[in-house]
Amino acid sequence: MFNRILIANRGEIARRIMRTARAMGIETVAVHSDVDAAMPFVTEADHAVCIGTAAARDSYLRQDRILEAARASGAEAIHPGYGFLSENAGFAQAVADAGLAWIGPRPASILAMGLKDAAKTLMQQAGVPVTPGYIGEDQSPERLQHEADGIGYPVLIKAVAGGGGKGMRRVDDAAAFRDALLSCQREAAASFGDDRVLIEKYILSPRHIEVQVFGDTHGTVVHLFERDCSLQRRHQKVIEEAPAPGMDAATRAAVCAAAVKAAKAVDYVGAGTIEFIADGTEGLRADRIWFMEMNTRLQVEHPVTEAITGQDLVEWQLRVAAGEPLPLTQDALRITGWAMEARLYAENPVTGFLPSTGPLDRLRFPDGVRVDAGVEEGGEVTPFYDPMIAKLVVAAPTRTAAARALAKACSGVEVWPVRTNAGFLTRAAAHPDFVAGRVDTGFIERHADTLIPDTEPGDAVAGAAAALLAEATGTNPWTALAGFRSNADADGRVLLDIGGTRVLAEAKADPRARAARIGDQRLLFVDGEAWLFAAPRSGADGGAAAGDGSIVAPMPGRIVSVDVADGDTVTRGQRLIVLEAMKMEQALLAPFDGIVSALKATDGAQVAEGTMLASIEREDG
Ligand code: ADP
Ligand code: ADP
Ligand code: MG
Repeated sequence: MFNRILIANRGEIARRIMRTARAMGIETVAVHSDVDAAMPFVTEADHAVCIGTAAARDSYLRQDRILEAARASGAEAIHPGYGFLSENAGFAQAVADAGLAWIGPRPASILAMGLKDAAKTLMQQAGVPVTPGYIGEDQSPERLQHEADGIGYPVLIKAVAGGGGKGMRRVDDAAAFRDALLSCQREAAASFGDDRVLIEKYILSPRHIEVQVFGDTHGTVVHLFERDCSLQRRHQKVIEEAPAPGMDAATRAAVCAAAVKAAKAVDYVGAGTIEFIADGTEGLRADRIWFMEMNTRLQVEHPVTEAITGQDLVEWQLRVAAGEPLPLTQDALRITGWAMEARLYAENPVTGFLPSTGPLDRLRFPDGVRVDAGVEEGGEVTPFYDPMIAKLVVAAPTRTAAARALAKACSGVEVWPVRTNAGFLTRAAAHPDFVAGRVDTGFIERHADTLIPDTEPGDAVAGAAAALLAEATGTNPWTALAGFRSNADADGRVLLDIGGTRVLAEAKADPRARAARIGDQRLLFVDGEAWLFAAPRSGADGGAAAGDGSIVAPMPGRIVSVDVADGDTVTRGQRLIVLEAMKMEQALLAPFDGIVSALKATDGAQVAEGTMLASIEREDG
């Protein structure tokens, strides 16, 4: 076995590989960009080498510097993780040429599966069913259109060099084909430097089924069963599980046998994934599952396979790369229970999933769940790399229990101020169709309305906030806001500002809600969503009144109550005036002890935002 390996990757996958290496007594070398210098995968490695600046092409894709770092640090092997150089046959060859072991398949296998068209042709020859469609040299728009017409719509145009969900266009009718083709070719040329495409029949009720395969240098290939990765957004996986719901033993045997056949056809060594697309209109059937592509590396979602088989796939990779035979034979591999993984992304579902970057002042995960994360609380999400913050992996005896555990795990995530999809994941995992196993790649789009969190706090959030405020004493993180309760109206409701929305809330305790204080901010975490709780701008708490004693209308509204008269002596925090707009009330409080003067507020009057309503003179001033 190796004494020291270099990991040519970053973030969660670099840490994941290190965890196993450490357990096996293998030292690790991290390579990193300058902006990643303080990240856990760098500080936790036995050795670290900075190989360049932020942009991947100046660091993580610099083959020369990675090889130099391996030489200088005395590493005997290189693990490429996923993404970056993991499927670069030229790099795999360069590693071998440098006298190092490549923890991955042979360069020829990577090459054979690198382009989708060549891979499909090869698979067809090997007797593996492939997605029906057109693969060919003739790339003229006329020919491609003719082929698409022949296949029948809808069709999917795919860049042969594509990956990561890019370079794909669904076309629903002949008239739309030409424009879709041009835009797909443009994207393919820009992203992959290759504008060639293939055309596939668009499979209806598509389900993404993939099989984990493993080969060793002694010619043995086994499979570790299937995963279902149908929960996708824009062709990118969001929630994965193993095994696949509704997969019977005969269908499993057929698809896993096809995967092993595919791997053997390219003399596969190491961890690989054969991706299939299944027509799920009538459940999973062996004659409706077709080869789509092979990923010649460890997959992001490998933990669900680890969970149901009890194996450590990185350990398998290291053993195979060191020349050992596979740790287990096919007969010794079994499925136990059910596992699910959710990808926690730094993105905001509410703004159309725009990426969210910045400091991670808060980053907490629930206990009892496997969390593979590249960052920790106090770290940062930078704009340079993948938006994935962490993977949450749960396992349970049954699928129903696993789905429940996943929803619970996602609901317990606390991240701030970076926005995440945790609330979205919670809703997806708890959705009745998901729980019932009714999944296909259209699930997220179809249910977007119910999955995307609300922009405004609902009754539950407001009630929980009011309840937490009401009990804000002792160790409660909102203690300092206790005085806020003086805002309560006759019915005990308090005006709150939650996430920028003002709500009149009635206290209703909710065990799912957790209060937190981060710096001088008060937050409420409910079902994976983070709500910033603020004292509404009014007399006592900032706003125009705080400095000079001016009491100004903070919003347009109607004056529903004037509680003081000119010349009255008031104390700090005393209610002066109540404004109401859109069923929300806003109390204006005295900013400090003093005397009311210049009172212009009259009951029932409509006032514009910024209207001066009164002034408080300091008694001593
Ligand atoms: P998977 O099926 O394992 O999710 P993907 O094709 O989505 O595979 O890619 C795996 C991961 O690698 C993703 O997180 C993706 O963002 C990242 N990735 C893919 N290609 C690149 C690349 N060229 N450079 C950096 N990261 C990449
Ligand atoms: P990538 O290299 O980007 O991962 P894939 O060929 O694996 O590309 O396809 C990505 C996703 O696109 C699949 O997981 C599936 O959701 C969808 N997809 C691919 N081919 C088809 C098809 N023929 N019909 C329907 N959906 C498809
Ligand atoms: Mg794919």
